[in-house]
Amino acid sequence: MKTLQQPTLRSGARQAVRCSRNVQRVFATAAHADIRREAMLRVPLEKAHTFNAKFVPFADIQTGTMSGESYSLDDVVYRSRDGGLLDVHHDMKALAQYGPEYWRALFDARIGTTAWPFGSGVWSKKEWVLPGLSDDDIVSMFEGNSNLFWAERFGKEALGMTDLWVKQCGNSHTGSFKDLGMTVLVSQVNRIRKLKPGSITAVGCASTGDTSAALSAYCAAAGIPSIVFLPADKISLAQLVQPIANGALVLSIDTDFDGCMRLIKQVTAETPIYLANSMNSLRLEGQKTAAIEILQQFDWQVPDWVIIPGGNLGNIYAFYKGFKMCKDLGLVDRIPRLVCAQAQNANPLYQAFHKANGSMANIKEGYAAVKAKTTFASAIQIGDPVSIDRAIMALQDANGIVEEASEEELMDAAARADRTGMFNCPHTGVALAALLKLRERNVIGPNDRTVVVSTAHGLKFAQSKVAYHSQSVPGMTCQFANPPVQVKEDLGAVMDAIKTKFSL
Ligand SMILES: *Cc1c(COP(=O)(O)O)cnc(C)c1O
Repeated sequence: MKTLQQPTLRSGARQAVRCSRNVQRVFATAAHADIRREAMLRVPLEKAHTFNAKFVPFADIQTGTMSGESYSLDDVVYRSRDGGLLDVHHDMKALAQYGPEYWRALFDARIGTTAWPFGSGVWSKKEWVLPGLSDDDIVSMFEGNSNLFWAERFGKEALGMTDLWVKQCGNSHTGSFKDLGMTVLVSQVNRIRKLKPGSITAVGCASTGDTSAALSAYCAAAGIPSIVFLPADKISLAQLVQPIANGALVLSIDTDFDGCMRLIKQVTAETPIYLANSMNSLRLEGQKTAAIEILQQFDWQVPDWVIIPGGNLGNIYAFYKGFKMCKDLGLVDRIPRLVCAQAQNANPLYQAFHKANGSMANIKEGYAAVKAKTTFASAIQIGDPVSIDRAIMALQDANGIVEEASEEELMDAAARADRTGMFNCPHTGVALAALLKLRERNVIGPNDRTVVVSTAHGLKFAQSKVAYHSQSVPGMTCQFANPPVQVKEDLGAVMDAIKTKFSL
């Protein structure tokens, strides 16, 4: 096992703080850029860096046998030769040269630093994310490092739990965890555009709202054009206005997410428009850092359960990958059990799980895509998830389970938890409702350390909260609604209103 020496030096050299980076930028005239591009082309990535990563078929990861098919991360490629998904595969031997103490100490030392780019929760794990990327190419908003909320009151009062936590991934630049993946994808695109000018004209995605917001923000920061395909009238107003504000080309298409996805795949297959959907495995490399952060936030103790709302099912695999890397490199000795929480109105994985009598084994046989119905959890209104195979592998290996939540259950759970200080989006509501059910059946025990992943900020979904609290959702009791009291400008009327709740 090597000592701390080598990467410390490397990272030390890179600890050029932001100001000197800006100075470098000033001098990066066109001529300088050409010289740098030349240098990048001449030094093969594998030789220039101790650590490296490449695309391999996801099937290789699944079966644990390397077929030999692989692609450079600088290639524009989304699918393996046989049409399967790809996965970013790290040289684990190179990473394992450094012991677990080294990695834990390195990651911990970078929390809160201003040194570019390590103050980002994603890039603080750079060696495990995109080790070959130059710091100059990184497009970051210092995403990640989101807080882990101790849900003390909700745990105690609603669930009889002592050790419940909510990972607030929505406390982020564009208000969802999608920032974690997008910083990685847009940084790599930034590199490719410099390496091969003209190869990528714009970056495009189909989105249920949050992906397009993250894509357009990161692209705007880097000066890269972006195009977003949105299902008309199926996303929140706050989500819609984000890419508009960031200057993306916004196409509001008269279909659902799955329809947008089919179109963007065709467009990106035929044009120099780069595909930013989570079929693109680069994003999952950023998203996996949220799992590593959770371990860090527990001083490298492993929680018993992590509950994740699932739509396209990339994020559940990303969490699994983060936990698994920590285990494989010895930072922890096990991985948590994972729960995938789906909205009942878009629940293909839950249906298969149910058909298999609650077992993850052989679940694929009973699996079928569905036509997703409207749900308040609009970011997971997906009937034909791209990452189904990734999710199945993650859940099988993490002794995972799948749970679902009806519209009433998810809205009630979100509102009930809001009463204890949170401000949950409907997707977080799905995860909280799943937790309520699993506690009821005692699948999750009262003292199990449990983390609910909150995927977006509640403010992005204010419309649905307004509908709930004004009790205007058809067919829903809205039992935790807290509508404002209309009062005339009159002291007596104000006192009467106060006395309905407090004895003075
Ligand atoms: C994207 C998204 C999800 C679902 O993540 P998948 O990787 O598609 O399963 C959940 N919640 C929110 C708020 C999202 O934006």
